[in-house]
Amino acid sequence: MDITDFLARQEKAGNLRRLPVLEHPDGGRVRFAGEEDLLDFSSNDYLGLTRHPLLLVEAAEALSRFGTGAGSARLMSGNFELHRRLEAALAALKDQEAALLFGSGYLANIGIIPALVGRHDVVFSDRLNHASIYDGCRLAGAALHRFAHNDCNQLEDLLKRHRGKNEALIVVESLYSMDGDFCPLAEVVALKERYDCRLLVDEAHATGLFGANGAGLLAAANLADRVDLVMGTLGKALGGYGAYVAARREMIAFLINRARSFIFATALPPATTAAALAAVALLATEPELRQELWQRVEVFKNSLKLGGIEADLGPSQIIPLTVGGSKAALQAADRLRQRGIYATAVRPPTVPAGSARLRFSVTNHLSADELSAAAAIIASELGGRERQGSE
Ligand SMILES: *Cc1c(COP(=O)(O)O)cnc(C)c1O
Repeated sequence: MDITDFLARQEKAGNLRRLPVLEHPDGGRVRFAGEEDLLDFSSNDYLGLTRHPLLLVEAAEALSRFGTGAGSARLMSGNFELHRRLEAALAALKDQEAALLFGSGYLANIGIIPALVGRHDVVFSDRLNHASIYDGCRLAGAALHRFAHNDCNQLEDLLKRHRGKNEALIVVESLYSMDGDFCPLAEVVALKERYDCRLLVDEAHATGLFGANGAGLLAAANLADRVDLVMGTLGKALGGYGAYVAARREMIAFLINRARSFIFATALPPATTAAALAAVALLATEPELRQELWQRVEVFKNSLKLGGIEADLGPSQIIPLTVGGSKAALQAADRLRQRGIYATAVRPPTVPAGSARLRFSVTNHLSADELSAAAAIIASELGGRERQGSE
């Protein structure tokens, strides 16, 4: 590939990514050096746990006791009691027999999928699944059949035609990260059972937020015991870094022996592990964290509607407002930035061409007043009433 040419083409299409250097004066704000503070709508720190006092204390204690790193992989000398405790807590949260930690959600997906399927097998994947799922499929070398987003009729059609006799894996997310909508989990589970496939559910954006104790959407739908594997990240609502998969004990023993991104990677740092352990405990002891978030989400959506936004705002804390072209999305993000709001323009290849959008995630770092004021501005900049001149 001609690198100069590639960069020029990305720039021309409005798809060149640059790394913004931001200061983080507190949890809900970011600023570009020397500029005004912006409200941060692009963080996945939904419950505000990254700065929760309990996580800070637990992480600091583990840091001073065990140092900054685990020193090696889990299968070598890097396995700590903290890892075992966190895995037990996550297994209990997800109502599964066991769990296994990974360095990140990306590493989890590119490790789990090739462990389960290979060249003679087949994967059925929702078109909007996260890139890490697609990269896992590619590494696996299995035949890949993508179905239209949340379209169980098409999934069944593909299963009828391509299930074959070897291993088959269905992969979905329970809450889609770019559209903010839910997977029809009960239907997918029924199909998985009818066609005798394994099912991997990615709960990256749902863990900590839905269901009893924030166990996730699978648990909320009472389906935890009917899926083969459920994975999620520790980097979003849980406020840290790392990831996990939860499953039956035998499946976890299998992954310990087969998932290369687990075997050949350094264990999570003890302090990170301790913070996640505190985060999981908080899900049970501070249910008000979730109540506060859903109240804020309500305020934000209602204010967008009051401002004249007519789009369906979906069922979750992730609210995408589709703009269309990449350049239009970048310009909209710029206008919002000038008005004190930081929301990222999500562009191809993350989302399909022509559906570039601004994606707003609501977190507990933002107050109800900040959210309603921001929503009024967003509505006016993105085609709400004010912009159409009817106000
Ligand atoms: C964020 C995300 C991941 C990756 O998790 P990291 O811990 O950030 O690597 C995987 N799947 C989905 C659906 C995600 O949104």
